[in-house]
Amino acid sequence: MSQPDAAQTQGGLENLLHEHRSFPPSAEFAAQANATAEMYERADADREGFWAEQARELLTWSEDFTEVLDFSGAPVARWFGDGRLNAAYNAVDRHVEAGLGDRVAIHFEGEPGDTRTLTYADLQEQVSRAAGALEALGVRKGDRVAIYLPMIPEAVVAMLACARIGAPHSVIFGGFSAEALNSRINDADARVVITADGGYRRGKASALKPAVDEALAKGTPVEHVLVVHRTGQDVEWTEGRDVSWEDALAAASPEHTPAVVDAEHPLFILYTSGTTGKPKGILHTTGGYLTQVAFTFRNVFDIKPEADVYWCTADVGWVTGHSYVTYGPLLNGATQVIYEGTPDTPHKGRWWEIVEKYKVSVLYTAPTAIRTAMKWGEDIPAGFDLSSLRLMGSVGESINPEAWMWYRRVIGGDRTPIVDTWWQTETGAMMISPLPGVTATKPGSAQRPLPGIAADVLDEQAHPVPDGGGGYLVLTAPWPAMLRGIWGDPERFRDTYWSRFEGMYFAGDGAKKDEDGDVWLLGRVDDVMNVSGHRLSTTEIESALVSHPYVAEAAVVGANDDTTGQAVVAFVILRAEHVGKADEAGEGSDVVAELRAHVAKEIGPIAKPRSILVVAELPKTRSGKIMRRLLRDIAEGREAGDVTTLADSTVMSRISQGMHR
Ligand code: ATP
Ligand code: MG
Repeated sequence: MSQPDAAQTQGGLENLLHEHRSFPPSAEFAAQANATAEMYERADADREGFWAEQARELLTWSEDFTEVLDFSGAPVARWFGDGRLNAAYNAVDRHVEAGLGDRVAIHFEGEPGDTRTLTYADLQEQVSRAAGALEALGVRKGDRVAIYLPMIPEAVVAMLACARIGAPHSVIFGGFSAEALNSRINDADARVVITADGGYRRGKASALKPAVDEALAKGTPVEHVLVVHRTGQDVEWTEGRDVSWEDALAAASPEHTPAVVDAEHPLFILYTSGTTGKPKGILHTTGGYLTQVAFTFRNVFDIKPEADVYWCTADVGWVTGHSYVTYGPLLNGATQVIYEGTPDTPHKGRWWEIVEKYKVSVLYTAPTAIRTAMKWGEDIPAGFDLSSLRLMGSVGESINPEAWMWYRRVIGGDRTPIVDTWWQTETGAMMISPLPGVTATKPGSAQRPLPGIAADVLDEQAHPVPDGGGGYLVLTAPWPAMLRGIWGDPERFRDTYWSRFEGMYFAGDGAKKDEDGDVWLLGRVDDVMNVSGHRLSTTEIESALVSHPYVAEAAVVGANDDTTGQAVVAFVILRAEHVGKADEAGEGSDVVAELRAHVAKEIGPIAKPRSILVVAELPKTRSGKIMRRLLRDIAEGREAGDVTTLADSTVMSRISQGMHR
């Protein structure tokens, strides 16, 4: 076993996949784009000056700042430290004051087809009343409030109401269990929970309140539960503790003075997706976070608030929902769609019907959704008018080049720029992404750190890899929206992010630089496989599989192997058009033989999977990310590990039955 070590000391990851397609911006798009190439130059010349300009241009400060960055307490940064502001005032009130009260902030589409329209003036009244209601329950500046709601406008209202009084919110996915809820409430020491009777999912009213009751029965410091009535289903009621949201808002004043807070006042705590292990309570503060979120929303999505209709399909329980449903769009005074339910209820064209209905112009979604749409087949979106779309984004995982091409061709009509945005709960806002109108985009690459962001790819010895090389993605300078820590655990903060490379933030992801220096994400370094001394990335082999016309989605893991150290094991989902071929799934079938040969041809024999299992589903987190560690358990013949953050915990037993058939 000396070979793997030798390869390891050379560092980095092998670079196997070659993708040469490129899409320069059209002249028309470039002429009207918000972003400019000069932004990079300006930020390179004076990074702090650049962010100070953005902070003053995009936000309204109650008290201006004199200091920009203070990193003397590294790894905890302070941005705009002596400035003061309020997040909810910036997201809502100032637009009403500017005469935009009648502009639609939210077009809400419930899963059963009910709709609501909230203007900025409506939002101002609701947020003010909700802030008053929270104060009436004893919530004060600095107190934590847990939010456990479906994707309904009240989720946004609740977050902003907390921000309005300076009470950090902790949003917990509506799909999480009572157990997960209990541990998150206790970790953040929340005194109030905002929930609903239930929400609509897959054509049914799905209860939420019982999970809160159960979580509280296990012991928490919670004193009050505010309950939104969404479905009208029966709920148990604890007198004195439970309060009706509608009654509390009706009793509160429609006016409320926002609490001005320090730029470094905590805005929220959010637990990571839990893709790799126990979720971490990531802490974000106010001024720097809002600055970078507002800047990236405006420039990466090229938003024209008076004309665009934006739709981000993420749940508010995920960081994408925080930064690009609640804060980014509203800070910019944009109009957005919020959809409550699942993409296939009541039919598999629901999303495309929503795009047509609201004339969505900018769409932000995740690779998992794109691959699911690929699996269902392109006849479905073909039945809708998607011509309003002018830009589309992707986030959450690497987007396989073929999925990117499909997204652009089938959904974007071969016309829209696509922005693949790399970032994390920890980074708070987008970090690496093309700038539409400026960058010639490449399918599968996030490409370049945004203006004001410094990133690099390092080898084992912390040397930057040359163009063409692969290694570890790091962030080499503080950025405004960076996390300020892990709630209650400063040591874990240092250990997790700052101990691998001296003075640098290590993101946990592998990446490569191509011959132009553009960044390609290669998956998590925990998932890197070592096959006969070659360090292979999951993403590249998955992308090779997805480039075969039969395959919609693939997950690859390294399983122990007596001869090669590790061997590549792949799990694939076929496209609807080819599902008949899956009947004889398993080793030796034609599909499997063909796919193994395809990988060998696309990226080389070393990457050829030892086995390929055709499956109907893959284990995913609630935010739609593949949980490869569970597949590795199965591939190595173990019982699957912790499944508490899985969207559907029964998937694992179905896959392992297939494996051992
Ligand atoms: P945990 O940290 O608990 O394991 P998580 O990392 O899935 O969970 P998030 O913060 O939601 O939690 O996800 C960030 C991660 O998602 C990134 O580190 C990266 O692995 C992946 N990711 C996000 N966007 C992209 C992208 N555009 N390309 C490739 N990977 C991406
Ligand atoms: Mg992570």
